[in-house]
Formats: sequence, C-alpha cells, structure tokens
Amino acid sequence: MTLIEDLQGLLGADAVLHDRRELAGFVEDWRGRYAGTAACVVLPSSTDQVAAVVRACVRAGVPVLPQGGNTSLCGGAVPQAAGPAPVIVNLSRMRRIRSLDAANNSIEVEAGCVLATVQQAAAAAGRLYAVSLGAEGSCQIGGNIATNAGGTGVLRYGNTRDNILGLEVVLPDGTVWEGLYRLRKNNTGLDLKHLFIGSEGTLGIITAATLKLHPLPTAHAVAWMGVASPAAALEMLGLFQTACGAQLSAYEMIDSGQLRIVLEHMPGRRAPLPPSHNWHVLVELADTRNEEALTTVMHQVLEEGAERGFVEEAVVATTGAQRAAMWEVRHSVSEGNKKAGVGLTTDSAVPVSAVPEFIARATAAVHEIVPGLPIIVVAHLGDGNVHFIPFFSHPQWEALPDREAVGQRIKHAVNEVGHTLGGTFSAEHGIGQTLTGEMAIFKSPVELGLMRSIKQLLDPANLFNPGRLLPPSIAAASPNQELS
Ligand SMILES: Cc1cc2nc3c(=O)[nH]c(=O)nc-3n(C[C@H](O)[C@H](O)[C@H](O)COP(=O)(O)OP(=O)(O)OC[C@H]3O[C@@H](n4cnc5c(N)ncnc54)[C@H](O)[C@@H]3O)c2cc1C
Repeated sequence: MTLIEDLQGLLGADAVLHDRRELAGFVEDWRGRYAGTAACVVLPSSTDQVAAVVRACVRAGVPVLPQGGNTSLCGGAVPQAAGPAPVIVNLSRMRRIRSLDAANNSIEVEAGCVLATVQQAAAAAGRLYAVSLGAEGSCQIGGNIATNAGGTGVLRYGNTRDNILGLEVVLPDGTVWEGLYRLRKNNTGLDLKHLFIGSEGTLGIITAATLKLHPLPTAHAVAWMGVASPAAALEMLGLFQTACGAQLSAYEMIDSGQLRIVLEHMPGRRAPLPPSHNWHVLVELADTRNEEALTTVMHQVLEEGAERGFVEEAVVATTGAQRAAMWEVRHSVSEGNKKAGVGLTTDSAVPVSAVPEFIARATAAVHEIVPGLPIIVVAHLGDGNVHFIPFFSHPQWEALPDREAVGQRIKHAVNEVGHTLGGTFSAEHGIGQTLTGEMAIFKSPVELGLMRSIKQLLDPANLFNPGRLLPPSIAAASPNQELS
C-alpha cells in the first residue's frame, strides 16, 4: 500500500489532496517567494486523525510539514524547493471552539481556528483575546503559537507566548501530549508548553490550545501623530507611558515612505495626516471605563508633546469609523508592500531606547552597500520591534545583478547592527527557511546545542519540518538528507 492510500484509508479520500492543481495553494508562500512540492496535503478533522497521520508518515519515513493559514513571512509553511517532498498536514478543518470560561478568562480552541474567529468569540463573551496582527483574517492559532506571533498588542499584553495557558500536541512519534491546563499558576516542574511555542513545527503538531483572555476594553481613544524623527516618537512614548500606564495599548510607527506606498497601492485607505511629515505614529489608549476620560488624557499628552516640540501635528479619531480607518492604514502595510515592489523585510528587535540609533545605523549600513536605496520602516515601537525594509521597485530588482546575494548582504548588514545593539534578527516572524543562516551566525553554540539536543530527543529521525529553524549543520540527520 502506498502512503497516499494509507492516508486515504485513515482520513477518507476527500481529506487527502494529491493532484498537482489541488496542491497549488498549499505549496507556495504568501509573498510568492518560496515554492516546493508535497507528497500530498492532508486535512485531518481531529487530534486522533493527526496522530494517525503522523504514525503513517513515520512508518514511511516521509517528512511532515504542519501548516496553518500559510501566512508565514519567512517561508516556514511551504516545502523547500529541494529535498524530499513532505506530507503537508493542514489544520484548517480543526476549527472548533471547544469551550469558553469567562470566569477563568480562558478559551479552549482547536489549532485551525482563524485568529479573527477567536477574537470574535471572546468579544461575544465580553472578553479580549489580545493577539492582533495584519493577517488575523487568515492566520490560525496553531500557526500563531508555532511562530510565537507578535503583532500590535505586545506592548500591553505580550506576545503569543504570554497568552497561552495550555497546549495539546501530537508528538513526532504519534503520541498525544494533553497539556490543556487552564491555570495561571502551575509549578510542577518544567513548563513544557514553552518548548512548542516558537518551535515552528519542528517538534510536533499543535492540535489545540487554551488561551488567556482579558476583560474586553469598551472605551478607546486613538490618535495619529506626525513627528520629525524616531527620537521624537520615543519621547512621546515616554509621555504616554507616564500619563496612561496600562491604558497605553498600542504604539506603532511608520515612516512617510511606507505611508505613501499604502495610499498609492491600497485603494480606499485615507491618510490621517499628510505624508509630508517624515514619521507617523498611531497610538491607542483603551480600558473598560469612560471614553471621555481617555480622550481627555489623549489630548493632554498630545498638547504637552506639541509644547515640548515632539509632535508636529496630530489628529484624534472622534468616531469608531475614524479609529478603524487609522488602523486599516497600519494593517495594510504588508499587502501594500507586496504590490509596490520587493521589500527586503527584516524583523529586528532592539531595546526600545535604542530604536532611533538602530534606524540611523542600519540606514548607513545599507547605503554602504547600495547608495541611496529607498528604505521604509514599520515599527512596533512600543516593544522595540522594527521592520526595517530596504525597498526595490520590481524593475530595479529584476535589473540587479546577483540579486539574491545582494539581498542577503543587505539583510545581514541590518541584522548585524541590531546584534551590536543587543538585539535579535527575528522578533516575531520566526526563522523558517529564510533565517537559518543567521541562526548559525548569531546564536551561541550553547543555545544551538541545547536546541539540537531537544530536537534529537523528540524527533530523532528529523522528520518534522527538516531544514527549518535550525541551521543544516546542526539539525538532526534526516534519513533522506546529507548534512552540509
Ligand atoms: C499581511 C500579514 C501581516 C502579518 N503581520 C504579522 C505581525 O504583525 N506579527 C507577526 O508576528 N506575524 C505577522 N505576520 C506573519 C504570520 O501571519 C504569522 O507568522 C502567523 O503567526 C502565522 O500563522 P499561520 O497560521 O499562517 O501559520 P503558517 O504560515 O501556516 O505556519 C507558520 C509556521 O508554523 C508552523 N505551524 C503552523 N501550524 C502549526 C501547528 N498547528 N502545529 C505546529 N506547527 C505549526 C508551520 O510549519 C510553519 O513553520 C503577517 C503575515 C501577513 C501575511
């Protein structure tokens, strides 16, 4: 019996896609930069089915690639161009909300639940699931956990890791770890869920999770500021933190180049302020009390910022529609950039206080390689995460000799600057296929050695997402692959 027949017997024929046309949407990444081939795509409907699929793949010695919404920005969710074709285990049929416990502020969901669906279910119960990102209409909870996704709520609520209470995981030998705790306190040894958060499908398949909820904010104040520099934006962050404490929910910065791209390439988006300001900040305050009080404090801080010369111009949204329109501009950056050209997106995190220096030094480093190259910046400034994006138009990129090597050099130069400032080269997107080389350079041998030991312990045959996350020279040996 072939593996495909085996899988059809386990899941039913309609849950095993193997025709080339059926595979198309699963084997190419969101940006269209990575593509490979798969033995097949399976669509399990239950944890037992996932476990059965894993056991069948292990018996056949075929790699397993877990896949959620396929919105990875680092080629993490699609097969590699070379190497053995994996079975893609796509979780989209596992999208049940199993239970919601409002008194415990928790929700248990299957891994294939789309992030926006979870947010909506929580809101219907007067609760907030606080992870929010541009891809929330299509990315899945399992993918968010596997990549430890960040987004715009990290400043106040932390990243995905901070919002997980428990996990259910199918391990690489097909056994199921039932770790769906609903507890805020549990000191019974190692907290194993953290092994799988950020493991990018290399240690098993997350099939369900218990997520932390918060009281749903009902009062909001959102403003858009034009500022002269990242340093001025940082000064304003300090003023907001002092005046508003935990009410400060988001603090996002983009530069005028990024705003122009959104306005030009995303129909219907309106600029809250003219792009003539060099830098733009979206700031949100939220709590469960009085909207008037929040708006008053927003105006007070903006006035103080203007008096002290930090703010050039600001506008405060007065309706829900205006608030949504401001957020729509912010959430449109990835899509706008994809249409506008080739952005060499980096994903650095540095200490918040070092963001202005990072941007200045990274700009100089890139211009040493390609003088005058346009650069756009999108920063979750409140948490120190900067997407610093050297940007080529499509014709410029096509005309560039040796473009892949130049692209790598440019990104590495940016990552090097982040590293010297005590930062990291992957803040929220993960490693995927794109950054395994940087792992080899920037992670210490001790950290890489520990990761390899854990990988070998759980997945000795290296069948789970081989070639991802760990640099090839230190990943466990695959039966089908020579190590470089
Ligand atoms: C427009 C846009 C905006 C974005 N904005 C942000 C942002 O602000 N912040 C941010 O952090 N990211 C952002 N991203 C990146 C992406 O959305 C996140 O990485 C997201 O968490 C991926 O979820 P997914 O379900 O699409 O996972 P996929 O892309 O399908 O998979 C990502 C990785 O997780 C693994 N995986 C998926 N599901 C499972 C599972 N059930 N068990 C084990 N492993 C699994 C895959 O093998 C792969 O390695 C953005 C992407 C887009 C397209």
